[in-house]
Amino acid sequence: MGRHDLGAMLNAYPDSIGGRLGDIAAMLEKEELKDAFTSFYILPSLYHSDLDRGFCVVDYDLSGNLAQRADLDRLRDLGIDLKLDFVLNHASVMSPQFQDLLEKGQESEYLDFFIDWNKFWDGCGEMTGGGYVQPAPQYIEKMFFRKPGLPILMVRFPDGREVPYWNTFYQKVWEENGERKYLGQMDLNIRSPKVWEFYEQTLAKLASYGAKIIRLDAFAYAPKSPGKKNFMNEPETWELLERVRQLADRYGLTLLPEIHASYGEGVYKVIAGKGYATYDFFLPGLIIDAFEHRTGSYLARWAEELVENHIFTVNMLGCHDGIPMLDLKGLLPDERIQGLIDTLVSRGGYVKNLHGAKNMYYQVNATYYSALGEDSRKLLLSRAVQMFMPGKPQVWYLDLFAGKNDYAAMERAGKDGHKEINRTNLSVPEMEERLEMDVVQKQLELLRMRSCFDVFSPDAAVSARAEGSRLELKWEAGDETALLAADFAGSAFDITIRNRSTNEVKFEFSQK
Ligand code: BGC
Repeated sequence: MGRHDLGAMLNAYPDSIGGRLGDIAAMLEKEELKDAFTSFYILPSLYHSDLDRGFCVVDYDLSGNLAQRADLDRLRDLGIDLKLDFVLNHASVMSPQFQDLLEKGQESEYLDFFIDWNKFWDGCGEMTGGGYVQPAPQYIEKMFFRKPGLPILMVRFPDGREVPYWNTFYQKVWEENGERKYLGQMDLNIRSPKVWEFYEQTLAKLASYGAKIIRLDAFAYAPKSPGKKNFMNEPETWELLERVRQLADRYGLTLLPEIHASYGEGVYKVIAGKGYATYDFFLPGLIIDAFEHRTGSYLARWAEELVENHIFTVNMLGCHDGIPMLDLKGLLPDERIQGLIDTLVSRGGYVKNLHGAKNMYYQVNATYYSALGEDSRKLLLSRAVQMFMPGKPQVWYLDLFAGKNDYAAMERAGKDGHKEINRTNLSVPEMEERLEMDVVQKQLELLRMRSCFDVFSPDAAVSARAEGSRLELKWEAGDETALLAADFAGSAFDITIRNRSTNEVKFEFSQK
């Protein structure tokens, strides 16, 4: 890995700032932003997509309205590489493959590309009056569901037949001129050779856009068989990842599998052990906990675990989803996690449990700034800690700009619109105005530090020490040492980067 591989990574939708990717490229070209980021995770509305703000991909060509090739060229010219989504579990009803199936039915070359629910459960349940198989209780009991009811969408073939297709995530059904219309994220059948052809073409395309890291969205839902949980089936999930890795290797892509699971289950460790990049979904909650309990001990322990086990992470404060909470189970005591959820909710955060079932995971939907009680000193210390954690730091644009909970957007979006609380689009003048804010400029200074100093290299020795409310994180590499000394009691911290042999100070930053 080169020096820049641990530089800071911006994270945004193509239209998060100014309305088009070109506006974000222009922002990154500004003097104030120069050298702050070495990578950019562009969310999947970069492609042709419909529902779920991009995670329902029609095809992987550039959206055109939001992003064009020239925008990607500008990012490349700035020395910025990309992290992009490969949504391997599903594709839009509007994808060419699903449309072909709808048009040609039995004659379609994509007949097995998606999952015909009734075929899948054939012999494992009873046909209902609604035209779908109700799997027998012994199958249903084992399964993990994302939403209430069966994960199906009834689709209509030209001959008038209505057929249920597997649909784990979102769907939208409505009436137009007396006709039933629908959209949905249709699960792909990983047993179909055509799906694998599609996977390979997709990875080749993403590499051609400048992708270095590929986020494998919701991959754990992809392997399915009757009688299994149909989330993280083993060993099939690992076999799937391995097969995707063989394709990705051809294009020099690093895979970052996305999964939420409690710390106690140890899935993050298995992923890392198999050599994949690993999401650090623990850091956001651990930092908030450190402020609430005035202790850096859990953070220090987590940093040490990452170092000792050589786990390469991508970490974050906020992101396009909520702040993960139940991921912390097994890492923090249960009552402390509940305390955190209560605190975030008291600060305006929104909790949507999956559907009232057990085994669900909670995320609290809130901006990170609001989750910290809209305290700029805390935000700055959180950013400093992130810059000193092992791994590659990903920075949600709205955290950088100290965005507050957007209740109006959440209300406008209606049912299932809770994530909009942390997805406010900024106009260019709004962005420029916020660039003047002290908390924004200081974060940029910390990002530049992380992206430019050689000490933040994959070869560095990273160590952590906690005592009472204080936390020290240290990086040593080549002839540099970087030290963060922080106190969660009053949010004071000092950063010093020195030349190890001459002791000359190369960088200093302080919040008293
Ligand atoms: C993404 C979500 C998305 C889901 C379905 C996830 O894990 O982060 O935003 O709704 O996958 O694609």
